[in-house]
Amino acid sequence: MNAILESVSRLQALHCSVCGTPHSAFALQRVSACCQMPLLADYDLHEPLSRAGIRATDGTMWRYRAVLPLFNDENQVSLGEGFTPILDLKNLAGRYNLQALVLKDEGQNPTGSFKARGLSMAISKAKELGVQGCIIPTAGNAGVAMAAYCAKAGMRAVVAMPRHTPQAFKEECYWYGAEVQLIDGLINDCAAWVRQANADGELLDVSTLKEPYRIEGKKTMGYEIAEQLNWQLPDVILYPAGGGTGLIGIWKAFREMKALGWLAADVKLPRMVAVQAASCCPLVETYRGRQANAHQYVGRPTIANGLAVPRPLGELLMLDVLRESEGTAISITDAEMVEGMRELARLEGLFVAPEGAAVWMAARQLLAAGWLRPEEQILLLNTGSGQKYMANVEGQHG
Ligand SMILES: *Cc1c(COP(=O)(O)O)cnc(C)c1O
Ligand SMILES: [Zn+2]
Repeated sequence: MNAILESVSRLQALHCSVCGTPHSAFALQRVSACCQMPLLADYDLHEPLSRAGIRATDGTMWRYRAVLPLFNDENQVSLGEGFTPILDLKNLAGRYNLQALVLKDEGQNPTGSFKARGLSMAISKAKELGVQGCIIPTAGNAGVAMAAYCAKAGMRAVVAMPRHTPQAFKEECYWYGAEVQLIDGLINDCAAWVRQANADGELLDVSTLKEPYRIEGKKTMGYEIAEQLNWQLPDVILYPAGGGTGLIGIWKAFREMKALGWLAADVKLPRMVAVQAASCCPLVETYRGRQANAHQYVGRPTIANGLAVPRPLGELLMLDVLRESEGTAISITDAEMVEGMRELARLEGLFVAPEGAAVWMAARQLLAAGWLRPEEQILLLNTGSGQKYMANVEGQHG
């Protein structure tokens, strides 16, 4: 197979994540028409596609062109997102007697979080499908990323964000020229405003899992983890779950790479851990059987703004990943996150988002509980930079 063919998108169709009904991948789609639930992208993974088809000279997530949904490279809206480093946390590992502790640093993405991956993909596809403007309810980072990619694409951008979000998130949206609506409440209240403000559907709503392509951007973290670890995988991946696109996306990538033969049959898939904030942990509550689902869950704000998602649309998909991977779900308090931020800063020189610190604290608790063992290879996902959260943690460096 030659390199040209391998750089052509293998996207074939979309399917409803609940009932499987196929949907066209060549028209603008939102949620599924049948169940009003997330649509997932299907690729032709049976035709041979060698790992040599990865565009190794492209130091962004776009190196995996063939398994991404964009048909025409000219529609790519990129700020250099993805292919973030996996850092060896030797100092922290030394202190806690761990054999292999690594962190994929998504804080190094454009706009300072992994939301860049999803929004780069969603805005690129929106451009390809002729969309003129986008709208999003956000806890902060997704709105900033959407505003940046819309600016680059020349599209109108409308962002609805909780009023209590640190000023740095709002300010950056203004700089990109977005229209920002401040809402009293959490992201679900922002979503209610978006539904009303965009009742005529003039703008594309790029809410988590309400269009099929943000998750395709997020899944590139899974491809990168495999490639960067030389096609082996860690024993455990800890992920800070809000809406869950990263968790679902990384698992989707692992399944695709198995089908492609990029991961050998004997490579064991990692146990996936969803980490949430104690003040908003709907997935933990459902996973532990304390509620049937998150439909009525009421969350409170947390310093990890990205985790304040009380009623995630992708709840069932996240639960599937936890069960299939034999993972678990755990919640971390805000005070513990600050402690984790201090440790990562002092010992590793990393100023991570509270979400990333939560993941480290979850690892510590799972080690103490014996669920994680010190000899296992542990990968922490730091999903964002701490910079924009300064107002949440200022002066708490100890
Ligand atoms: C949005 C966000 C999350 C949660 O991501 P989901 O894809 O919604 O699960 C975690 N960390 C940070 C920094 C975020 O911005
Ligand atoms: Zn359906």
